[in-house]
Amino acid sequence: MIKDNIEDIRCRINAAIAKANRSIDDIAVVAVTKTVQPDKIREAIGCGITDIGENKVQEATLKYNEIPKQVRWHMVGHLQSNKAKAAVEIFEMIHSLDSLHLAEAIDAQARKLDKTQKVLVQVNASGEEEKSGVAPEDLDSLLKEIDELKNISVTGLMTMAPIADNKEKARPYFRILRDLFESAKKKGYKRIKMQHLSMGMSEDFETALEEGANMVRIGRAIFK
Ligand SMILES: *Cc1c(COP(=O)(O)O)cnc(C)c1O
Repeated sequence: MIKDNIEDIRCRINAAIAKANRSIDDIAVVAVTKTVQPDKIREAIGCGITDIGENKVQEATLKYNEIPKQVRWHMVGHLQSNKAKAAVEIFEMIHSLDSLHLAEAIDAQARKLDKTQKVLVQVNASGEEEKSGVAPEDLDSLLKEIDELKNISVTGLMTMAPIADNKEKARPYFRILRDLFESAKKKGYKRIKMQHLSMGMSEDFETALEEGANMVRIGRAIFK
C-alpha cells in the first residue's frame, strides 16, 4: 500500500534526522513517479505528497493534466537542450543542469515565459563515465557562468550515488557533494543561493540524510 510505504519512509526519515541531530522541517520528499500511472500518483498526493519527480519530459507532459495542479514538478533525469522549452513549461525545478549550453537553452525559454527557472546543478561525484553531471573540479567555473543568466536561479546541487548493495558505499559521494555545497555557499555569487541539497534515493536516503541532504528523491520505496 502506498499509504503504508509513505508512513514507513517518514518514520525512517525522522529516525535518520534524529540520528544526525537535525530538524525534520527542512526535508523535502520528491516522489519519483517515472513509469507510475496517474491514479497511483493521485493516491500518493492524497497521502500528503506535494512534490513529484519525473526523468523524461515526454512522460511528464503526458501525465501533466491528470495530476492535481497543487503539486510541484521536478525534472530529475538528464535533459537535452531541445527539450528545454517543454521542461520550463512544466517543471518547478530542474535537478539535472550540467552544462552551460543547457543553462543557456533553459534561460532563453524561461525568458520567453517571463519565468525564473529554479535549477540544481548535477554533480558527478563518483566520476562514473556513464553518469551525467559536471565534474567536481568544474563546478565553480560553471556556477560563475550560470550566475550571469537572469532567468535561471540555481538553488542547490544534486547527485546520484553509484548503485551498490551496501548503503555505506554511497557515503563518500554524499560527503563530496555536501562539501561542494558548503563551499559554494561561501563563494559570493550574485544570484546563486545554495539552499537545496538533493541526494538520496530508495536504497540510500538515510545515508544521504545523515550527510546533510535536505531533498530526497524516492521512487520504488513508495510505489513498489
Ligand atoms: C528513478 C530516480 C530516482 C528514484 O529512484 P528509486 O530507486 O526508485 O528511489 C531518483 N533520482 C533519479 C535521478 C531517478 O532517475
